[in-house]
Amino acid sequence: MPEIHDQPDVNPEFFDNTPVDEPFEASAADTDADADMLCPPDYRDDGGDEGYDDTSYMDNQEHVSVTDRTFTGTLVHEDGSEEPFDLPEDTVDALNNLWTTQADAIYDGFTQDREGLDVPRAKAFVESLGVTATDRMVIVPRADKAALEEALIPIEGKQVVNPTVGGWYVSKSDTVIVYREQDMEAVNGTGYTESKLVHELLHSGGLVQIDLRTENKGSSEVGTAQMGYKRGVYEGMEFQYVTGDFIEEGFVQYTAGLYVVNKLDQPNGFAGLRGSPHITYDDAVGHLAIPLQHTFRYPEGDVGIHTEAIAARAIGHLIDRDPALLPALVAGARDNEALAEVHGRMNAISPGMFERLRDYYNKGAWYGQGLAYVCAKLDIPLDRLQ
Ligand SMILES: [Zn+2]
Repeated sequence: MPEIHDQPDVNPEFFDNTPVDEPFEASAADTDADADMLCPPDYRDDGGDEGYDDTSYMDNQEHVSVTDRTFTGTLVHEDGSEEPFDLPEDTVDALNNLWTTQADAIYDGFTQDREGLDVPRAKAFVESLGVTATDRMVIVPRADKAALEEALIPIEGKQVVNPTVGGWYVSKSDTVIVYREQDMEAVNGTGYTESKLVHELLHSGGLVQIDLRTENKGSSEVGTAQMGYKRGVYEGMEFQYVTGDFIEEGFVQYTAGLYVVNKLDQPNGFAGLRGSPHITYDDAVGHLAIPLQHTFRYPEGDVGIHTEAIAARAIGHLIDRDPALLPALVAGARDNEALAEVHGRMNAISPGMFERLRDYYNKGAWYGQGLAYVCAKLDIPLDRLQ
């Protein structure tokens, strides 16, 4: 195992003064854009395993079949050692059916609002890249956010969702959730919501691996061991942290940016800025230039970005350097051979880059450092795009 730090180290070669674990504090004086988090900060779960041995729900009808997920079992011994075990087929069936049934209840319990959205266009774009995206999409008004997240607790556990989160991919039930915000659409157009949908659909194309961790004489915990490039790292029964978040979020947001440019024909993004190919975002590591296709406006008129756009710029620079990295990234989210290609291509750009981006910078507050690392390696200024 490579050495993984809970916090990224601070290399004085790149950074001067970095309170690295502080959340973004955009200062009005020198910041052009504010940031929202598009997806939840991680996908840990504290619950959701109750009833997995109950098969009474298996008779319920599925609305849309859930795409393939792999299941593993990990036995955790008292001394902390671990060994894999094969999950019984009926346990896997029970888990699948439980989550499917719960997701169906959500599907039925909330009135979808797709008016004015070109959902088929978003889906077709994702699939044109070779991604098999889920058909389970729940697109609801933002007013339903609290009730929907309450309904998701049996699947996802008691996850506290950042109030700015605009959507997410529920890996256990293979469901994409997107909130519609009428006030945001009023200033950005419906493409704003479509681009969020594209982002979440891309997450859904990655391989999902569920790990049922079981203590010798004790409880079980259902964990998401893999979702695309993200990996959950556990110590015993306890979730510790996630790796691969920077690559996963950067890749899907970069690709959502392609949708804005190529399908919505809005190369300057939703904010409609002109005169510069980028805006700047004030981060602990400095002023970050962010390409315009990632910009939008808040109802009050301020320019915003999703935090994931910071990682997207970094991935975009790597794809500019090696265009074959994009198809490799698409395939590597679900295929280990292709993942090895991603590894090789990133490390051909700079030795150790893949491991670095996988193991560090895996929180929104650290994306700026990841971008600074990539810019330093490619000799690109942080505050300009080239
Ligand atoms: Zn995301």
